Amino acid sequence: MKKTLADIDVKGKKVLVRVDYNVPLDANLKITNDKRIMATLPTIEYLLKKNAAIILMSHLGRPKGKVVPEMSLKPVAVRLGEVLGKPVKFVGGDCISAESKKAAKDLKPGQILLLENLRFHSEEEGKNAAGEKDKSSMDAFAKDLASMGEVFVQDAFGTVHRSHASTAGIVKYTKDAAAGFLVEKELKFLGEALEKPVRPFLAILGGAKVSDKINVIENLLGKVDSIIIGGAMAYTFLKAQGVSTGTSLVEDDKLDLALDLLKKAKERKVNFLLPVDHVITNKVDFASKSVPSDAVVETTIDEAIRDGFMGVDIGIKSIEKFAEVVKSAKTIVWNGPLGIFEIDEFSKGTVEIAKMVADATDEGAISVVGGGDSVSAVKKAGVDKRISHISTGGGASLEFLEGKDLPGIAALPDKK
Ligand code: AMP
Repeated sequence: MKKTLADIDVKGKKVLVRVDYNVPLDANLKITNDKRIMATLPTIEYLLKKNAAIILMSHLGRPKGKVVPEMSLKPVAVRLGEVLGKPVKFVGGDCISAESKKAAKDLKPGQILLLENLRFHSEEEGKNAAGEKDKSSMDAFAKDLASMGEVFVQDAFGTVHRSHASTAGIVKYTKDAAAGFLVEKELKFLGEALEKPVRPFLAILGGAKVSDKINVIENLLGKVDSIIIGGAMAYTFLKAQGVSTGTSLVEDDKLDLALDLLKKAKERKVNFLLPVDHVITNKVDFASKSVPSDAVVETTIDEAIRDGFMGVDIGIKSIEKFAEVVKSAKTIVWNGPLGIFEIDEFSKGTVEIAKMVADATDEGAISVVGGGDSVSAVKKAGVDKRISHISTGGGASLEFLEGKDLPGIAALPDKK
């Protein structure tokens, strides 16, 4: 178990907090969704109560080591100030400039400073000023950041799978470090689901590619009782077993691997469920995410998809078959939509599964949904409030499900 905020002394201290303020901005640099800011409030409010001086650090976008004014964190400082009802200091320019360091030095207990975008420095991502990989530059940058505070709090779950200066490197240069409340919550839900799940344990995986989720499937096969595969991923598994898949998205170079995974599932007695029918079409406009008016849309009678047609959603029989398993599950982990849910006509399978997962949660199951698209899907179904935990980090939650060590977590000290 890693140390959490409640385990360390922050009273009156200068606390460096890594947050994930990688928020979407429109052309006028207005924040279009502030959920990442809101997600950090429990940690910030706790630190304010402890009379700490708070120095917030984040990245925004991919400036690749250059100062890109449109990627400044200034709008975030303004928004956070509005939300908290107190000013948030912001220097701008360079997060480790003499001016930033002075602002950190002068910061009083109960005050907040947000540093400028960490990724304006290529050292944040482990590169030197010339853009070459360079660990010593990263270390020096981490040390510079650490010099501005006393203790470090990791609350940016969205970046803990990265080994960067502000996520992992900084820890060894601070007196003490811990996970913030947001990261603690992620570790609790994801960790408990994987380490001590209440059974039956079900994983639902969907999305575009098997290749993105091979390691997740491998890891989960050793833990779950059942696994439901939907989305385009399912067609690679079906084709590998000789089922016709028409023009569906199939990864032909992964057919052997799909067979291997099916074999492993059998050996481990995992109930491996694939769709038994599909919604298919002969035309989709992927660019505009719409169905052309002359497209033919039908539901198949079984697994097979005829020539010239592609699978775009699971069919009614699949929904019914999957319902049995979802209903009886006591732990559910879900990553990836079961069809092209962005197009209303093809969203039924994903939306129905989302409702079932919410119903199962109402009946006492623990449900954890991760990955940007699955989160949008539970929102589209209007059931996001009824899910036990919605993960804030797509890439990080996927790597957690793969069983990988997350550098930003691994670097934190263990609880005594
Ligand atoms: P991922 O990022 O791997 O979770 O993939 C999410 C994407 O998979 C979404 O944009 C879906 O539209 C897409 N997707 C799901 N099912 C299908 C399908 N049957 N055919 C093509 N794309 C799909």
